[in-house]
Amino acid sequence: MLYLAVFFFIDIKCAQLSSSFKFSQQSKHDIHQHPLTFIESPTIIDVPKRFNCSWCHEPLIDAIYLCPDCPFIIHKKCLDELPTEIDHLTHRLHPLILNCSDSDYLCNLCQKSTVEDKSRHQHPFTLLRRQDSFICDACGTEGNYILYICSTCSLMVHKDCTSLPRIIKFSRHDHCIFHKYFLKGLTRQDCKICFNEVKLDRGSYSCRKSGCNYVVHVNCVLENKSFYEVIEDEKQCAELEEKSMQSIRVIEVNEAGEAAKIEHLSHQHCLALADKMEEEIDRKCDGCMLPISNIFYYCPECPFFLHKTCAELPRIKQHWFRQSNATPDFNSFKTCDFCSQRCSGFFYEIEEYWDMCIRCAKVADIIECEGHQHFLFFDFKCEEKCNGCRERCQYGTFRCGKCRFALDFGCLTLPHSALHKIDEHKLKLTYRDDKEKSYCDICEQDRDPGLWYYSCSTCDTSAHIEYVLGQFPFLKDGSIMAYHIYNHNYLHDLKFFRKVEGFPECSRCGKFCQEEILKCEKFACNYIVHYKCRYS
Ligand SMILES: [Zn+2]
Ligand SMILES: [Zn+2]
Ligand SMILES: [Zn+2]
Ligand SMILES: [Zn+2]
Ligand SMILES: [Zn+2]
Ligand SMILES: [Zn+2]
Ligand SMILES: [Zn+2]
Ligand SMILES: [Zn+2]
Repeated sequence: MLYLAVFFFIDIKCAQLSSSFKFSQQSKHDIHQHPLTFIESPTIIDVPKRFNCSWCHEPLIDAIYLCPDCPFIIHKKCLDELPTEIDHLTHRLHPLILNCSDSDYLCNLCQKSTVEDKSRHQHPFTLLRRQDSFICDACGTEGNYILYICSTCSLMVHKDCTSLPRIIKFSRHDHCIFHKYFLKGLTRQDCKICFNEVKLDRGSYSCRKSGCNYVVHVNCVLENKSFYEVIEDEKQCAELEEKSMQSIRVIEVNEAGEAAKIEHLSHQHCLALADKMEEEIDRKCDGCMLPISNIFYYCPECPFFLHKTCAELPRIKQHWFRQSNATPDFNSFKTCDFCSQRCSGFFYEIEEYWDMCIRCAKVADIIECEGHQHFLFFDFKCEEKCNGCRERCQYGTFRCGKCRFALDFGCLTLPHSALHKIDEHKLKLTYRDDKEKSYCDICEQDRDPGLWYYSCSTCDTSAHIEYVLGQFPFLKDGSIMAYHIYNHNYLHDLKFFRKVEGFPECSRCGKFCQEEILKCEKFACNYIVHYKCRYS
């Protein structure tokens, strides 16, 4: 299937690249040596996933002609449009004539017999043609007829895969990811983009950082050019990480190569690495306000804790919600624009407009969630009610592509378990209640069985989420409020406390203060208000 004039061959794609080509229709030759079968809709038979059009190499979605005797398939539209003769810029002397019989020649323009790019692979690749399909070692998907081999490394790859970037920075992962032909020492991995299995003996991109476990299919991560950047070498990768990534400065490294002692931008003292708590206490991470169980940093001088993953959060993060840089804010408590919770701890500021708590910032745009059997993806236009809490979602929400199911950031980022004095065990976040009538053991009122709740299966306890967590589950005592309050000295900071000693009077409503208050700690300033009175 080639245009041929004496010893000059090009294929259809290259012929069309030239702006000077013009068709002159003549009688169409007998296109193929065997009789062809017409198929109106190829998607109903098994062919399309495995083969592309032999002419234009595009997928088979429209009507096709297929040869039952050999692997030859052509789109009906390709055959109809096929010119028998063209004038081409690269061959000015004669028009090129359609040749139907000779399929063993290579296109002189695009099929070079060897390709070499040392920045991508250290050895040259050599062209090979074969009759059947093959699995590309670089991307793990099937290819047909034309392959390139590296005999030194025993690799068989697609033409496009001879020049895959070795290192890329993908906007949905915080670190650079590396192309590998196989992965060692891992158990089953799913692609973090499509959630299908990544075969470990085939090519993929993965993150080298310990604890990251980030693996993606080559074709998934390279699908959209605007979501990744090619990184030239390890040096550029290290520079990028140093410049924009970490909020930590390593002071001491342990035998395993981990940062054992660090300085963190959010804290005035050095922090040390630990893997378990000395005593069984309900410690919360000062970054995300969720409980800490293993691998964390702690301050030896004051009560301050960070999950290792929270400490390592980048100083500049590309967040999928807006393809722009988000910067962290470590110091005050705010309301998260995504989960609507008031949170102490770390926030990201996106486009100087959105405040996103770190629990929300860790949520990817396509997720698996225990509460639903299918994957959920973020739909910017979705205004469905959340299946966890029945609130209507405002700026888009996570939804299922297979069935009617939506979930907001607030429910997605709920702690999987929580302690409450009503039960000696940890209560588990529960997604379905099969009982017809449900009850909350804390408020002793009815509970909507269709909504998420916390329960203990041992004691048959169940309760509303808001009663188990309390009103401010993510606020830490002593955290400073970000906004100043009219009527109070704007130079003084107000701090949040769950409880106060004595019975001071609220500066607003005049009633006694006991729970959830804002208080000025400046000497001789006795300003104190109920949290709920702060704007009244
Ligand atoms: Zn490939
Ligand atoms: Zn990583
Ligand atoms: Zn944390
Ligand atoms: Zn949030
Ligand atoms: Zn919800
Ligand atoms: Zn579903
Ligand atoms: Zn229990
Ligand atoms: Zn004051």
